[in-house]
Amino acid sequence: MKRRIFIQTSAAAGVVGMIPLSAQAFTMPDPPRKALLRLSFQENNAPGESLAEKLDYLEKHGFTGLEVGGGNLPARVTELQNALKGRAIKMSAICAGFRGVLISEQESVRRQAVDSMKEILAAAGELGSTGLIIVPAFNSQTKLCNLEARPILIDLLKEIGEHAVNVKSRILLEPLNRKEAFFLRQVADAASICRDVNSPGISCMGDFWHMTWEETSDLGAILSAGSYLHHMHIASRKRRIMPGEDEGDNYTDGFRGLKLLGYRDYISFECGSVGDKKVTIPAAVKLLHEQWGKA
Ligand code: MG
Repeated sequence: MKRRIFIQTSAAAGVVGMIPLSAQAFTMPDPPRKALLRLSFQENNAPGESLAEKLDYLEKHGFTGLEVGGGNLPARVTELQNALKGRAIKMSAICAGFRGVLISEQESVRRQAVDSMKEILAAAGELGSTGLIIVPAFNSQTKLCNLEARPILIDLLKEIGEHAVNVKSRILLEPLNRKEAFFLRQVADAASICRDVNSPGISCMGDFWHMTWEETSDLGAILSAGSYLHHMHIASRKRRIMPGEDEGDNYTDGFRGLKLLGYRDYISFECGSVGDKKVTIPAAVKLLHEQWGKA
């Protein structure tokens, strides 16, 4: 069969297993809404001895989100609620901290991940968090190939997504670069998993540092995620330090995509610094505001 004829036939009859075009991720918000630059910072990387000192510092420099690890989160709910009381800073995403591996070849390890994620999601919901960041598997954590892992993941995410909705939270699937996680490398692929699960409890995110290695276009990657996109990580583009510490750090193209989507979730700093953080953090904030303005 000639290729053109095949395309016509498949368009008319539909191809088994394919998703109809109406299920594409990228839809412009209607009516268009203004995107907001809301910056968040990871607790462990923030300057300060105590949580209160860290929050004071971040608040002073215009951050409005705090990202914390998910390990031990259920035991920290009251502490975090009290620490954030009366502040401009709210809980942003919860970064991993679960046990098990969602696409392990061992059923018991997969079940451990599901149960552990459910516990953290419940705490995340109590804290009004954006959601729980997860990686389906790091490279050393699964013997399954992509074709074997994907349907297993979709099934488990349906169950987790239903729980996430019940506890008013969501999963944020994070693509990493190929050296860390071959299974999920690109934002569009994370979005296609969200589409196939089809649950408001399952969404995705982008990490500008990983995107440096895996995406051909920040703008394209972000638009491909559309309304499934609910969190971003940011760092310098080459060495994963403070934005602006690597020469030529540029996020404008990605910011343009976020603006087109009317994005209002957090962009969260996931990085250290080679310089003095008390200098490099305010400089990074200034740089991001400038590039957001240009986007
Ligand atoms: Mg990240």
